[in-house]
Amino acid sequence: MTAILKGYALPDDKGYFGEYGGSFIPETLQAIMNDITMAYEDIRKDPAFHRELAYLYKHFVGRPSPIFHAANLSRKTGGAQIYLKREDLNHTGAHKINHCLGEALLAKKMGKKKIIAETGAGQHGVALATAAVLVGLECDIYMGEVDIAKEHPNVVRMKILGANLIPVSRGTRTLKDAVDAAFEAYLEDPVTQLYAIGSVVGPHPFPMMVRDFQQIVGVEAREQFQDMTGGLPDNLVACVGGGSNAIGLFTAFLEDESVEIYGVEPAGRSLEKGDHAATLTLGKPGVLHGFKSYLLQDEEGDPLPVYSVASGLDYPGVGPQHSLLKDLGRVQYVTAGDKDAMDAFFTLSRTEGIIPALESAHALAFAMKKAAELDVSRTILVNLSGRGDKDIDFVVEKYGKIYGI
Ligand SMILES: *Cc1c(COP(=O)(O)O)cnc(C)c1O
Repeated sequence: MTAILKGYALPDDKGYFGEYGGSFIPETLQAIMNDITMAYEDIRKDPAFHRELAYLYKHFVGRPSPIFHAANLSRKTGGAQIYLKREDLNHTGAHKINHCLGEALLAKKMGKKKIIAETGAGQHGVALATAAVLVGLECDIYMGEVDIAKEHPNVVRMKILGANLIPVSRGTRTLKDAVDAAFEAYLEDPVTQLYAIGSVVGPHPFPMMVRDFQQIVGVEAREQFQDMTGGLPDNLVACVGGGSNAIGLFTAFLEDESVEIYGVEPAGRSLEKGDHAATLTLGKPGVLHGFKSYLLQDEEGDPLPVYSVASGLDYPGVGPQHSLLKDLGRVQYVTAGDKDAMDAFFTLSRTEGIIPALESAHALAFAMKKAAELDVSRTILVNLSGRGDKDIDFVVEKYGKIYGI
């Protein structure tokens, strides 16, 4: 196990987590990525940067986010005790503000004028637009038209915050197409802009950098959980889109062999019919958006169309460190479908008075199933990655009748 544990400090200096990650991009862009890596290595060692970020986490985001013992929900499942790490209580409503502030500060330190990004559910767009205002940068956000229609409140928020919202009408008009469009815009001027990637994906150094900024979730949770219960959780559960909230929670616990770790991918409408985004469950290694990882792809290696009721999980790739953690067997990747997630969404709302993001509802769905199989003395810590306010119109329109609204 020790040899494997050493791997958790990855990536290597070329950005590889085992065989995954790296940087598969044109030479001109590689020079820019090298600059970003160097700038990041500098600020990573700079106590002033960490002080500034810690100040913003505390006074702007509202960190530390609490851990809540969901006693009503636990009683309802009849098994293990479910605890929630409340990233939904962060300013802007999800974990994404943790890495957006880090990326915005980095851009500012590098003398960039603008940060650009893609967004799926709109959470990354809102978090980045917020960080851009605070730090004093312009902000361009690319978003698929399907997601724009579905995530109206976040679209309005980005506009109020002064970001330029650029609709993407190609392909399936969802997250992958938005990434493609944002990437192309970035290539046109990588000198005055910084592409602030929204998860632990993309070429080196982004999977490392975004993980480092998200680690705060697990670092806090480990200490808080011990304060509350006197021990470590028996199980960790987080949903996996690109994988940032999951790696943020998992990192602090990877060397705790007693802790079982689960990443939950979206099974969408059907795993059999290809109507999902369960990359680690059904994909194979390939290259997309400048990095190597598990990928849902056709025979030519082109990404397959993906689907989930949760726009933020709708991505055919996954962070390279998750691919390694899967191969090592340290994290088990499982799935929850649309129906399970919708049930979990309403169950949490109606047992604890907490409306979760549809993304987080996937983690909850698995946690509830797992809890029911375990003794009441066992514990499960779930990363409640975001709040569901952004989803309520969609949920009521599509599922309201089923749930008596
Ligand atoms: C974006 C998002 C996710 C998925 O992204 P990861 O990088 O996998 O964490 C999950 N939950 C919420 C609330 C999100 O906004």
